[in-house]
Amino acid sequence: MSVVYYATARSRTFDQGYSIPAKFDELLRRVNLKKFISPRDAVAVKMHFGSYGAFRVVRPRFVRTVVDAIRGAGGQPFVCDTVRIPGLQYLELATRSGYTYGAVGAPVVMADGLFGFDGVKVKTGPVIGDISIASGIYDAQAMVVLSHCKGHIESGYAGAIKNLAMGCVCASSRTGERRSRGKLHARGGSQLVWDSDLCNLCGQCVAVCPTGSLHFEKGKWTRDEESCFQCNRCARVCPTGALRDTMEVREFQLGLAEAAKAVIKTFKPGKILYINFVMEAAPECDCMPSQDTPVVQDQGILMSDDIVGIEQASYDLIGKAKPLPQSVAEDMHVKAGEHVLEMINPGKDAPSAIKKMAQYRLGSRKYRLVTVEKKG
Ligand code: SF4
Ligand code: SF4
Repeated sequence: MSVVYYATARSRTFDQGYSIPAKFDELLRRVNLKKFISPRDAVAVKMHFGSYGAFRVVRPRFVRTVVDAIRGAGGQPFVCDTVRIPGLQYLELATRSGYTYGAVGAPVVMADGLFGFDGVKVKTGPVIGDISIASGIYDAQAMVVLSHCKGHIESGYAGAIKNLAMGCVCASSRTGERRSRGKLHARGGSQLVWDSDLCNLCGQCVAVCPTGSLHFEKGKWTRDEESCFQCNRCARVCPTGALRDTMEVREFQLGLAEAAKAVIKTFKPGKILYINFVMEAAPECDCMPSQDTPVVQDQGILMSDDIVGIEQASYDLIGKAKPLPQSVAEDMHVKAGEHVLEMINPGKDAPSAIKKMAQYRLGSRKYRLVTVEKKG
């Protein structure tokens, strides 16, 4: 059984010890970073920097607390993500999200290089075959994975598994792979399909494309196969279903587990700590161009060395929470007792990636939640 430490979101008194930042300190004290970090270890603090419109990312003050704790344990922290939009723009965005050296106390870098090409190819498994892991992650001796838990239009739920599988790999690599992360969306190349009858020429797909690969010529949708790195963002924003990918949901979930396992295997055992923020649980990924209101109330922060246990616990907390009014949960008439993420993105079978990780023996879906209501 895995042990998951859990700082509740509620703070019922004005005693500072009951605040979330104080409880966060307490979680870090209980997990004891010295168990994960040896003196002078380079420690990747893996984040998602968000997008210009998706601002509900992990707050810099929590990142700072983690960075200080890593230094306290003798490690050398650096805060990182991988290229999702051109790296220079993404670093500018990180600054706007508050991730600066001054705020978080450590260098803020692109783990796959400024242009997203720096990766190391590793074998994965039967679904995606191989993948390029960002060199900054591959070469680090330890990692703390900070994940904002939320919904996702393709995986149903996005937390630590997705942060590893999608977030620790390169979009392209200089060793010849034009689509590394893209394999997760489209095994065997392009699987995007455009239906002219459904297209209203709104242009959202063109606007969201990070590589400028999409164009409309005489009302016909065209994509530059060379520059497209298969992020599938265009299909996700299409409001009419005119653009869709044909990747099987099951394959996508299994691919996520395969890639996440490959990332974990680049570290020695016991060198990764997971921190899940079940706060501001938006219905969609932080890479989307905008972000709707949260679908459940803040639940709190979880910490564990077991990726399976922490993901199962986070998913369960969201599922047990009441759906919030003035959100897509209300629009879709989700009732208390129904898992809000399963209702707003039906048919995604989000737990299947968690189950696969358990089959890989990377952790246990049975967990013991150690609830922390107060510091000390
Ligand atoms: S999948 Fe779509 S949005 Fe992504 S790079 Fe290719 S064309 Fe652009
Ligand atoms: S987002 Fe969809 S509907 Fe809009 S232009 Fe692109 S394919 Fe057409």
